[in-house]
Amino acid sequence: MFKLIHQDKNSRARLGKLNTAHGEIDTPCFMPVGTQGAVKTLSPAELEEAHTQVMLCNAYHLFLRPGIEVIRRSGGLHKFISWDKPILTDSGGYQIFSLALLRKVSDKGVEFQSHIDGMRHLLSPEDIIDMQSGLGSDIMMPLDECVHYPCSKDHARQAMERTVDWARRSKQSAEKKQLLFGIVQGSSYQDLRKECVEKITGIGFAGYAIGGVSVGEPKNLGNDIVSFTVGFLPHDKPRYVMGVGLPEDIVEAVDSGIDMFDCVVPTRYGRNGTAFTSEGKVVVRNSPYIQDSGPLDKHCQCYACKNFSRAYLRHLFNAEEMLGLRLVSLHNINFYLHLMHQIREAVKKDEFVSFKRDFLSSYLKN
Ligand SMILES: [Zn+2]
Repeated sequence: MFKLIHQDKNSRARLGKLNTAHGEIDTPCFMPVGTQGAVKTLSPAELEEAHTQVMLCNAYHLFLRPGIEVIRRSGGLHKFISWDKPILTDSGGYQIFSLALLRKVSDKGVEFQSHIDGMRHLLSPEDIIDMQSGLGSDIMMPLDECVHYPCSKDHARQAMERTVDWARRSKQSAEKKQLLFGIVQGSSYQDLRKECVEKITGIGFAGYAIGGVSVGEPKNLGNDIVSFTVGFLPHDKPRYVMGVGLPEDIVEAVDSGIDMFDCVVPTRYGRNGTAFTSEGKVVVRNSPYIQDSGPLDKHCQCYACKNFSRAYLRHLFNAEEMLGLRLVSLHNINFYLHLMHQIREAVKKDEFVSFKRDFLSSYLKN
């Protein structure tokens, strides 16, 4: 369960601890994304060394491949992927609505064709909970209907009401040993977000997620949606904004009172040769780094920064050596997790506002 430890005196940022079956999570936290049961290019040992507290996996992807039964018979997801710390499983609602060939959405559930082999499936909210029970994750997410931006108000309302109905059914079919979060939808409409929070908190969940951001809306609008939605959420439960984001978005959302984050950005950018550093983004492939003997980030203590130069990393990318994408991904995950650590330390001392100002002025200066 969640314990609110400290509320920053000068902002809405907060410090908390979330207790799960596989250990405690200090919040605000970032969850590296292991969609298919692996954080791309990195081993569980490397994630642990980077102080990863909780990993995110995707139930929809694991259902399609290798199948929930394979994982259940292997002793559950933790054992299957050799990760004994907390795991949050996303329902895959977002992926079903964006990746799969969607056939039909009804109150019953979603009917779609797999993006891998074209097989037809019908999944109800109860099926999605059963899948996550079979995986044995620590935190489960219910099936929700995520709409893209822009979205008409009628469609946003219909999706919001369906999300609430599915949340109610998910809670009824979930077992107590796993934490189940509720998801708030409502697109960019403040009154729909408010109504959704009232209905979802009325059902009662272990934590609350804000879904439907990072779906194509302008950046400022995304930040606004998070900020006003948080205002409606209860204080004594963790708040998770799904799929956000870039370092500047995370700092902004922490300022609004968000506790949990996940995003594919650190590893996706890492594979493309873009590093996040305390002085902004560094595209290692670029020619200015051809003779640069410095590390990716002089303030970073990760294995990549302690041992390799920008010039060498640039060479690895140009020579298409796998080590290059591994090292930049490793650095990026370390950068994100270290950022969260710095945020927690700042909130503890009621210094989040000055931390945010200093971080952004250095990070955004280039
Ligand atoms: Zn580093």
